[in-house]
Amino acid sequence: MGMIICKYHGKTGISLCCRHIENSILDTSIAVTIIKFQIDILDDGSELLPHYICKVCAENYGLNNQKVLPSSYFGAKDKSIFPITVPVCIRCLKALIEGKT
Ligand SMILES: [Zn+2]
Ligand SMILES: [Zn+2]
Repeated sequence: MGMIICKYHGKTGISLCCRHIENSILDTSIAVTIIKFQIDILDDGSELLPHYICKVCAENYGLNNQKVLPSSYFGAKDKSIFPITVPVCIRCLKALIEGKT
């Protein structure tokens, strides 16, 4: 996993999330419902990479009832199957999930 320089937390780990969640981290007045997905990088269940997608994206992409997605979703060039994800500070995301700002 990569690192990021957060203006609040300094050098921290990253999580991948959709743009709407990123927006909500940047502007906490924007409400967002977060759904966690795991992408099975090796398709054998040994390496699950969490991705955080907002409820609207999950609905738009028909992913609502899925929790684990095959590796083809990781960095998918076909943006019709999975929303674009961006790296965000893992601690900022955690604060957002826990409802603390
Ligand atoms: Zn979204
Ligand atoms: Zn942060």
